[in-house]
Amino acid sequence: MNKEEMVDIIKCPHCKHKMDYDPYLDVCDMSGEFDMDCEKCKKTFNVNFYSMFYFTTKKLEGVE
Ligand SMILES: [Zn+2]
Repeated sequence: MNKEEMVDIIKCPHCKHKMDYDPYLDVCDMSGEFDMDCEKCKKTFNVNFYSMFYFTTKKLEGVE
């Protein structure tokens, strides 16, 4: 996969319209793909996705 094509929002490959992905993803899915219709130009396209986690850590009080 080309890195430049990975964006954190769904972009229609036809008209470049950007769409929120929340209604389309099941939070349990780590990765996958689905087809959807652009809400602007109404053309169908395929979406591949990966879930990413970000971690931060900090010391607990009283733990040396
Ligand atoms: Zn479109």
